[in-house]
Amino acid sequence: MSAGYGQLPVLTDMNLRVDAGEVVALVGANGAGKTTTLLALAGEVPVTAGQVRFDGKPWAGSLEQRARGGLRLITEDRAVFMSLSVADNLRLAHKSLDEPLALFPELEPLLRRKVGLLSGGEQQMLTLARALAGDTRLLLADELSLGLAPIVVGRLLRAVRAAADRGMGVLLVEQQIRNALAVADRAYVLRRGRVVLQGPAAELRGRIGEIEASYLAAEAS
Ligand code: ATP
Repeated sequence: MSAGYGQLPVLTDMNLRVDAGEVVALVGANGAGKTTTLLALAGEVPVTAGQVRFDGKPWAGSLEQRARGGLRLITEDRAVFMSLSVADNLRLAHKSLDEPLALFPELEPLLRRKVGLLSGGEQQMLTLARALAGDTRLLLADELSLGLAPIVVGRLLRAVRAAADRGMGVLLVEQQIRNALAVADRAYVLRRGRVVLQGPAAELRGRIGEIEASYLAAEAS
């Protein structure tokens, strides 16, 4: 697909695939087009050429329509209601709290607390609990680890990995390439809206220095 904002093309001839049961990392320098890729897949940014397919069929429609088909999008601004309690936030997304609490038992003692009073890590656990529970088939996650302590980041990424092991497809955008490659099966490296490198995460883990150097080169030029 190609996609962009109005007259501004951002993605060019992107060819990207996420299978059920795998975590795919999307990495690249600031402004490479990672967020735009997620938004285009979610129906929030227009695709100007090519096609998004889901289960082999063209996928059109709004984010809400795609959500009914099993898509969840986590954006950088945690999509939780700060003035509501943890329990109410979960109830808005799920009839029963059993599944989200089984995914993140850490939330149980916090159920009655207002989300605005939680730490950033607890808010992100809540965001992820809402997204992973239920009939989610594809998770698009933008910078889950942003501003969080390494121990929490590890917890969140392990939950994502476990969801994929149960059959979900996950496309994970991360600035921290090490974090992403630690849990991913495959990865794509983006530069200026194009895929410049792709491969199994195990292989790319050995090329982190080279990939990071290419980020710096992309930002300097
Ligand atoms: P970062 O890691 O900094 O979040 P990114 O790889 O996610 O970067 P995008 O946010 O997808 O990159 O941005 C790609 C390009 O699209 C940038 O040049 C950015 O300025 C531009 N862009 C992003 N959002 C808009 C918008 N709403 N309108 C116009 N241009 C935009």
